[in-house]
Amino acid sequence: MDQTGVSAEVPKSPWGSVKTGTPSCSLADVMSEQLAKQLDDENTLFPERKDPVPDLLLSEDTCDTTSDLVLAQMLQMQFDREYDDQLRREEKKFNGDSKVSISFENYRKVHPYEDSDSSEDEVDWQDTRHDPYKADKPQTTPRRGFVGKGKNITTKHDEVICGRKNTARMDNFAPEIHVGDGLGMDLKLPNQVFNSLKQHCYSEQRRSARLHEKKEHSTAEQAVDPRTRLLMFKMVNSGVLENINGCISTGKKSVVFHANGGSLEEEPVPNEVVLKVFKTTLNDFKNRDRYIKDDYRFIDRFSKLNPRKIIRLWAEKEMHNLCRMKKAEIPCPQAVLLKKHILVMSFIGEDHVPAPKLKDIMLSSEDMKAAYFQVLHMMQQLYQKCKLVHADLSEYNMLWHQGKVWLIDVSQSVEPTHPHGLEFLLRDCRNVATFFRKRGVTEAMTMYELFNAVTGLNLSICDEDEAQFVAQVTHTHLNTCYIYLNVCQVNLHLNTCYIYLSVCQVDLSVQKLPIITNVIINVDKIHVNI
Ligand code: ADP
Ligand code: MG
Repeated sequence: MDQTGVSAEVPKSPWGSVKTGTPSCSLADVMSEQLAKQLDDENTLFPERKDPVPDLLLSEDTCDTTSDLVLAQMLQMQFDREYDDQLRREEKKFNGDSKVSISFENYRKVHPYEDSDSSEDEVDWQDTRHDPYKADKPQTTPRRGFVGKGKNITTKHDEVICGRKNTARMDNFAPEIHVGDGLGMDLKLPNQVFNSLKQHCYSEQRRSARLHEKKEHSTAEQAVDPRTRLLMFKMVNSGVLENINGCISTGKKSVVFHANGGSLEEEPVPNEVVLKVFKTTLNDFKNRDRYIKDDYRFIDRFSKLNPRKIIRLWAEKEMHNLCRMKKAEIPCPQAVLLKKHILVMSFIGEDHVPAPKLKDIMLSSEDMKAAYFQVLHMMQQLYQKCKLVHADLSEYNMLWHQGKVWLIDVSQSVEPTHPHGLEFLLRDCRNVATFFRKRGVTEAMTMYELFNAVTGLNLSICDEDEAQFVAQVTHTHLNTCYIYLNVCQVNLHLNTCYIYLSVCQVDLSVQKLPIITNVIINVDKIHVNI
């Protein structure tokens, strides 16, 4: 029964059944449980409004058409679709056959992503084997050289395919060449452009390799190339050195480092040592070889070695010479260890401070005089006892330490019998005489007197005529017969040792070979391999 008593005819509505105005009711009705339940049931007629968009995409017959809101949204959606269709038609008309096309995508009402399931966005991982942003590589043409049939045939020479392939091939360029995402842009690189890019890439690579090499070379210039560094680390690791502190000097021939000694075969190494690293670059090698090439101690090995290994001979030569000098009690560093082109020797100085060179120190006249006489004595000892000529003796290679002069840098020292030995000695005498005279030592002999005093020769000094003196020195040299003997075989028979010698070099400037009455074999050690 109609409680309101209004029996107006309900108009038919295309939107479905429409409820007319709210009926008035008494307080008792309002309070009734029955009415409350009825109102509750009416409420449930409305669809849930949680996420209307996906529902709108459902087919029309599954939609609930009782809600105005849903209907309005459905209509809006319909309108949007039609709008998009129109837009697509306009886009097509606008672009026509043009190669450059303009997209109206941004003006569309229904965007493709709105259709997608939003739950996909929640994926927080990605399969990195496939880069979704990276365009696929162009398909390769089969071996027969074409694809398709009849009219649709595409050969491997097709401009577009070639262009795409060229773009893909840019991936093979060196990593430091940034090629960008050509594939993504569908870049079609003409052959000519690709070839010149390729050429540029190769020449860049070669240039950078050259630069790199130069860099390595320049470290070698500082003598600590990677191999040297490794040798130095090994010395620390093996405990021979405790640590390497820093560089004392970088000269033409070597780099000298200060280090703290550890122990070598349970023998303690001096607390302060230097590492003399002979330079592995061969820049001034040509000048150096005259000191070693004609030294009979190395003559056999010199001819067989490559230049890099000859550098090691320098270190070895310095070690041998230092040992000889130590035996003759000449103040000099004590050789500790030789590793390839690195010579470890005792440090002349104190608390990391190397002793100053004679050239750098201002001594009192007494000290200077004492230094001069000491140098004279050392030169004599070196020549007569050690059978050595320093060959680079000057105020640069003499250190002042504990009130006396110490001789260093004897890698180039040779025996007096060396073809240029006496010339080198004369040069040493000139350096020493000039220095001490300049420093006010009036007792300092002239270079000629000094030469005679050191060698014990009595060459005439006429008016200090250098040319005449040098001629005498050269003559003295010519009258010396140099025969280099090579141990070619050693046989051990009971207690007797037979040493077979072969002549390996004769100084051809000697016209007549004198009869050899005495052969002195000057060898430190003979290694016999049985
Ligand atoms: P180069 O052959 O490069 O001239 P040196 O043997 O003369 O090499 O050494 C260069 C410098 O290193 C020297 O002038 C000296 O200052 C320092 N030096 C070399 N050996 C020692 C050492 N045993 N103790 C202290 N300083 C040294
Ligand atoms: Mg030197």
